Amino acid sequence: MAISSVAGFATSTPAQTPELASGINIQGLTKTFQLGRKSVQALSAIDLGTKKDSFLSLLGPSGCGKSTILRIIAGLEKPSAGSVVVNGKNATEIQRGHETGIAFQDSALLPWRTVTKNIRLPLEVAGITPAPGLIDGLIDLVGLKGFENAKPAQLSGGMRQRVSIARCLAVEPTIMLLDEPFGALDDMTRQRMNVELLRIWGEKPATTLMVTHGIGEAVFLSDVVAVMSARPGRIAEVVEINLPRPRLPELTRSPEFHAYVDQISEILFGAHGAASDD
Ligand code: ADP
Ligand code: MG
Repeated sequence: MAISSVAGFATSTPAQTPELASGINIQGLTKTFQLGRKSVQALSAIDLGTKKDSFLSLLGPSGCGKSTILRIIAGLEKPSAGSVVVNGKNATEIQRGHETGIAFQDSALLPWRTVTKNIRLPLEVAGITPAPGLIDGLIDLVGLKGFENAKPAQLSGGMRQRVSIARCLAVEPTIMLLDEPFGALDDMTRQRMNVELLRIWGEKPATTLMVTHGIGEAVFLSDVVAVMSARPGRIAEVVEINLPRPRLPELTRSPEFHAYVDQISEILFGAHGAASDD
């Protein structure tokens, strides 16, 4: 079998395994942006694969192309070279099937819409009538019962991100793309949201790619952490997180957890590290 598996993660011809054919499979992904006469190479030959319903985090210095990877998977940018296959489909087919849920750092809620109507938005855009009880179920799932008719301005930052997670789940996605979803929140809220996110992901499994700056957060949540190096973005190393699930906050005090955090910090910042943060 022509698979070279690094930490359960295929780096060549992964489309041949059924598991990866149904996950995310990125090969030779390159992206160059044209800014007037200048060109910026954001991504250089990225290979990245993740299994169906697994949780992968992307870590790396600012500007290394993390968001660009997510935007390409979401079909919001076109690759300059290389391919992205999700569940055996290309970006256009995935977009057509409304299989992707997206949540970014800035919750980007429409201020004039209520919680319910913000969550319903992606379905309206897709021309899909929500199944009875779907939206109420999501509101319940993210712990916002009683706030159905509130407007974003009446909610805390954490609550707005809950709305944004619920909205991401409205299309019942097979893929979730999360770009620093809790980046704007204070540490305590963020930790609580991570625990919530794990619970939600456990109840509604989806192949998840999350960009984060938090090493601890990445270890706590992920099956696999991919560490990127500075521009042009490359995958420096892929670390499989073999910590048991379900994961509870106590896990973050265990030596195993800290060993992973140290290992990844070393990759990011160490003497032989791939990158220094900026
Ligand atoms: P990250 O999310 O890791 O911080 P990004 O993916 O946002 O990085 O950006 C990677 C690089 O590509 C950066 O140098 C950024 O300035 C550049 N870039 C991103 N989007 C565009 C764009 N639309 N036009 C020009 N350059 C861009
Ligand atoms: Mg970014």
